[in-house]
Amino acid sequence: MEDCLFCKILNKEIESNIVFESDNVLIIKDISPKAPVHLLALPKEHISSILEIDKLDSRLIKELMETISKVALKLGLDEEGFRVVINTGSGAGQSVNHLHFHILGKRKFNWPPG
Ligand code: 5GP
Ligand code: ZN
Repeated sequence: MEDCLFCKILNKEIESNIVFESDNVLIIKDISPKAPVHLLALPKEHISSILEIDKLDSRLIKELMETISKVALKLGLDEEGFRVVINTGSGAGQSVNHLHFHILGKRKFNWPPG
């Protein structure tokens, strides 16, 4: 989608540090990491937030989750625990309106989150 930062990253119009890519999913390093490991998992199809999840095929949703799980295991994030976050809406800190899953690891996380 025009004017979407993550669509531009997906189209390689903007550079990113790619950790994993398939036909449907891209995982990149966050440009401003909030943990020693901070990745963003993006569906290649543009939807603006989880509120539009009905627009995604259920197989794609499963593929996204499986990809997150595999990458987390590959990076050893399961050893100490890790966090997967979807910010939704500006009140929760969503700044890019293309659905993305933050994958954070390799530090201690507080609960409840701030
Ligand atoms: P949100 O705030 O919407 O939950 O998450 C957006 C994330 O995208 C932020 O963590 C921010 O650091 C990251 N981000 C913003 N611009 C870029 C960019 O150009 N490249 C990469 N790799 N990450 C970005
Ligand atoms: Zn987009």
